[in-house]
Amino acid sequence: MAELRIVGVRKAYGRVQALSRVDLTVPSGALVAVLGPSGCGKSTLLRCIAGFEALDAGEIHVDGRRIASPYATTPPERRRIAMVPQEGALFPHLAVVDNVAYGLDRSARKAGRAAAVLDLVGLTGFQDRMPHHLSGGQQQRVAVARALAPRPPVVLLDEPFNALDAALRAELRWDVWQALRTDGATAVLVTHDQAEALSMADEVAVMRDGKIIQSGPPELVYRCPADPWVAGFVGEAVWLPAVRDGDRARTPLGTVWVTPADEGVPTGPVRVLLRPEQITLAPPSSPGTVVATVVRRDFYGHDAMLALRLNDGTPVAARIFDPAAVPPAVGDEVGLRVHGTARAFPPNEHPDHAPPSTPSAPDT
Ligand code: ADP
Ligand code: MG
Repeated sequence: MAELRIVGVRKAYGRVQALSRVDLTVPSGALVAVLGPSGCGKSTLLRCIAGFEALDAGEIHVDGRRIASPYATTPPERRRIAMVPQEGALFPHLAVVDNVAYGLDRSARKAGRAAAVLDLVGLTGFQDRMPHHLSGGQQQRVAVARALAPRPPVVLLDEPFNALDAALRAELRWDVWQALRTDGATAVLVTHDQAEALSMADEVAVMRDGKIIQSGPPELVYRCPADPWVAGFVGEAVWLPAVRDGDRARTPLGTVWVTPADEGVPTGPVRVLLRPEQITLAPPSSPGTVVATVVRRDFYGHDAMLALRLNDGTPVAARIFDPAAVPPAVGDEVGLRVHGTARAFPPNEHPDHAPPSTPSAPDT
């Protein structure tokens, strides 16, 4: 176990500022997911932590010990930090157990560490297989086992589940999470997949343009995003124009409770964020509802997403769970009701940080 602390780290490649100022603390034994779009600097950050890149500025500490700064750096092999790359990391000519035992000293080999860590990732009985006789998911399990085998205090995972299909990914996430827990490793998982970050991590650190924009428990980042861009990146967002008066705001969906995103949110015109699961359906013209027309329906089996349009033209989205209900069809009128609290943002954010639009309704 070890606390990992990254302070003011910068890294440029020529004129590309890959990390512009990264501050991040990963508590001992915690799993932090760094969530951001492709190209925002996630892999660069991991390479700096592992010691494969030199820092332009800032420091990295493990348990209070400085392992990297622009002036002094501990070589990668002495950092005791393991990295699980995206894919294809196994030695093709070595059996599973030898892949896993590769970095182990004699006493760990004797003690059967490789077999123990294979158990941990659900590969009991696969010791003697060759990598090309394994599925993609099994190969990734071996890669995780190999990283965990020497009991590194810190484990870095660079989008390790990307190449796998959705069902396999969910299962592997859970097994890897348990293996990391059993071993007590401090872990940083980078991903562009918000479901992966929210479901696996103790804390989610949202990254954009080489900076950590917000970090906190998954619930906090989802419910109280720091800015509209984060709101749209971590989940589906419904944006409504509104007029705020204290802790309430008038919106096209009626008056709702609001919490301001920061002190800069004015009284008067604002825009508010709702999540689609905060909007529920009722028969049209039920008391306390607003009429809307369904313009698109995405049925997922366990739930459904509806894109709707209010009579004034405002687009909204609702996620419906009711297992007994038949989701309304395109063109149907429904009544909408808002639950819980909305988050209020200033009416005009910086255009670079504009939210992605509400799940789009086709133009009619
Ligand atoms: P991510 O992993 O989030 O997709 P990366 O850390 O790989 O992002 O890249 C961040 C930025 O740095 C990108 O603009 C990328 O093109 C650039 N970059 C990454 N590695 C190099 C490199 N070795 N040389 C030049 N530019 C690089
Ligand atoms: Mg990357």
